[in-house]
Amino acid sequence: MLALRGGRVLTAGGWSSADLVVDGSSIIATATSGAEVLDISGCVVAPGFVDLHVHAAAGTPVQGERADLAAVAVALARGGVTSFLATAVSAPLDELRSLVRTPAPTAGARCLGVHLEGPWLSSSSAGAQPVQHLRPADVSEALSLVTAGPVRVVTVAPELPGALDLVRALTSRGVRVSLGHSAGSYADAVAAVRAGAGGVTHCFNAMTTLTGREPGLVGAALTEPGLLVEVIADGVHVHPASVRALHAARGPAGVAFVSDCVDGCAPAGVLVRDGDVLRLPDGTLAGSALGLAEAVRNAVGWGISLEDALTMASLTPARSLGLDVSLVPGRRADVVVLDEDLRVRHVLVAGVLQ
Ligand SMILES: [Zn+2]
Repeated sequence: MLALRGGRVLTAGGWSSADLVVDGSSIIATATSGAEVLDISGCVVAPGFVDLHVHAAAGTPVQGERADLAAVAVALARGGVTSFLATAVSAPLDELRSLVRTPAPTAGARCLGVHLEGPWLSSSSAGAQPVQHLRPADVSEALSLVTAGPVRVVTVAPELPGALDLVRALTSRGVRVSLGHSAGSYADAVAAVRAGAGGVTHCFNAMTTLTGREPGLVGAALTEPGLLVEVIADGVHVHPASVRALHAARGPAGVAFVSDCVDGCAPAGVLVRDGDVLRLPDGTLAGSALGLAEAVRNAVGWGISLEDALTMASLTPARSLGLDVSLVPGRRADVVVLDEDLRVRHVLVAGVLQ
């Protein structure tokens, strides 16, 4: 039994200064004698981060020849992530199928399934997606992957011919469709939402933007009810003011911080590191080397409350997968402890210190 003592704990009702007590893999109400005490005075205690969009960690990718999902899970946990979706970039179907069939690792962050970021995307908004692997929308192809393993989210460009059928087929099987890598109009996006799409992938990046007469996919992301909107809060992919605008429009229950981390996805020289981001040699942003603790720290620095920033890194992305990760007795002890500078001090995954 472990009692985390002296920290400020984020609970459903706001901040609490009570001990957070962990017994085995679960949070319990109060410590009995004999609990080991971990002094975390001055620290913040929050639900572990949930990354819905992560391709790699610490130099290791989730797919391809060098894939090592177990190593990714361990590296993510060290950064405060306690659950994640292994996220694929567009690739041959066999490579995607192989990722979907990979058993979840038994140590480190919990892999909740797969996010297929493509291959049903727009070639004119591909970003760093390999255009040679993009494919026309195809329901039977998509279902062959969905039936192979735990696909939880699929990113689709809504303007592709047949995209609405794809949205309906996926959502009817419990897979959330997230709109992205799209050159489509606001009307295309709204039609996909009406067909069941439930989110937007890395809002503002690789999509049509908001203008006065054409609101684009960004306009739908800001205004369509019920969407879960991803954003990369590294200060490079998206301007801080745009992150604030998204937060103001949707509130913390409608925005999920994602890392879109691609650190290790490509051999040396293909992606060039530029601070906390990675670029193609022509300068195109390819993704980040960001951790969600940095996203939280950035957001707080940009004027978003700590409570909201932590919610967008944990509770909200978890809820989008049907999970409640709030720190109450009976729940799994997935916990991150951040120091006064919001750097990761301790991480518990199912009660196990990482
Ligand atoms: Zn991505």
